[in-house]
Amino acid sequence: MKKRLFTPGPTPVPENVALAMAQPIIHHRNPEFIEIFSRVNENLKYLFQTKRDVFTLTSSGTGAMEAAVVNLLSPGDKAIFVNGGKFGERWGEICKAYGVNAVEIKIEWGRAVAPEEIESELKKNPDTKAVFLTHSETSTGVFTDVKEIAKVVRESSDAVVVVDGITSVGAHEMYMDDWGLDVVITGSQKGLMIPPGLSFIAVSEKAWKMVEESKLPKFYFSLKKAKKALESGDTPWTPAIALIVALDVALKMIREEGLENIWKRHEKLSLAVREGCKALGLKLFGYPPSHAVTAVYFPDGIDKKEFQKVLKYKYGITVAGGQEHLKDKIFRISHLGYYDEIDIVGVISALEMALMDSGFDKFNQGDGVKAVQKVFAGFEEKLVQKDNNDEMLSCCH
Ligand SMILES: *Cc1c(COP(=O)(O)O)cnc(C)c1O
Repeated sequence: MKKRLFTPGPTPVPENVALAMAQPIIHHRNPEFIEIFSRVNENLKYLFQTKRDVFTLTSSGTGAMEAAVVNLLSPGDKAIFVNGGKFGERWGEICKAYGVNAVEIKIEWGRAVAPEEIESELKKNPDTKAVFLTHSETSTGVFTDVKEIAKVVRESSDAVVVVDGITSVGAHEMYMDDWGLDVVITGSQKGLMIPPGLSFIAVSEKAWKMVEESKLPKFYFSLKKAKKALESGDTPWTPAIALIVALDVALKMIREEGLENIWKRHEKLSLAVREGCKALGLKLFGYPPSHAVTAVYFPDGIDKKEFQKVLKYKYGITVAGGQEHLKDKIFRISHLGYYDEIDIVGVISALEMALMDSGFDKFNQGDGVKAVQKVFAGFEEKLVQKDNNDEMLSCCH
């Protein structure tokens, strides 16, 4: 039986990427590695859509989150974070661990924060130094409009906008420089299609001024040290060489497909998953939906544990469960990274069979798969329609 991961990190690793890691290890001061790392750094700028340096850290994604907090802020500084899921909440936990005055915007898990809510919190807290956001909240499958929020923050304060893009980079449209995002972070085991162990952070010119004045304690994650090393094409500490070699291959794949095409692919696959689930009589959780991960309510009346076991051991499919209070309420299907249309046909087909095995019969066999195929057949047409509508709107306003 083939094992298939449909989890929002780690995500599947393409064979050619995995093979690159199987080569003999090279030394990080050899010209061979320096060439790879400089190519990786250029391609990371493309991925982030920034002219700024993108620093590669050896850690999981949370390390880059911590790096953002400790490099930007000083003890007692005020920062706003949005608790709309596990990862938004984490921004607050890191801030508190370092003595940052963290102002929480608590929203119901499953919805996105509105730009107006950020604006009104900024009015109440004009001394806010940073606003911490989550572009794609992996725990709830919800997308947040960071482009619009960045505009509002810029217009109503001097605070910097810090974006957790861990499941949005490489899935959702994101132009760091053009949108005025001050800090963007991501991790390796998500949209980048390589195993866990690397995280990435880019910092705008405005935010870099804060880095220079920041007084929170830091050593391993010091971005000043990272910048100094990068000036000679290096990292301050031994990098995870094998992962960077793999990243080089993954980023070449990303360049070849093209970012816009990748964003469109994620939009299409996520729509197909949602339509497939709905056709099976399942209810979706959270709104608006992320293109990286789809959260679905467990249907009533089935044994949830048994259902997940059947999916995993009979059909080889691993999906993610819910976190915290959503633990027994939802499961999450990821379509972030190395996925294509047939993967989605497969996962919805397996879902159908596992639901039938669990005694859930609110659909006719094949309904889910049919809905998925319909999305794929009509997607380009729908995009053209959407474009025409946009044109009509722009021509008439
Ligand atoms: C995975 C993830 C993280 C970081 O998790 P790590 O386990 O530290 O890699 C942070 N934010 C989001 C939105 C994530 O999906």
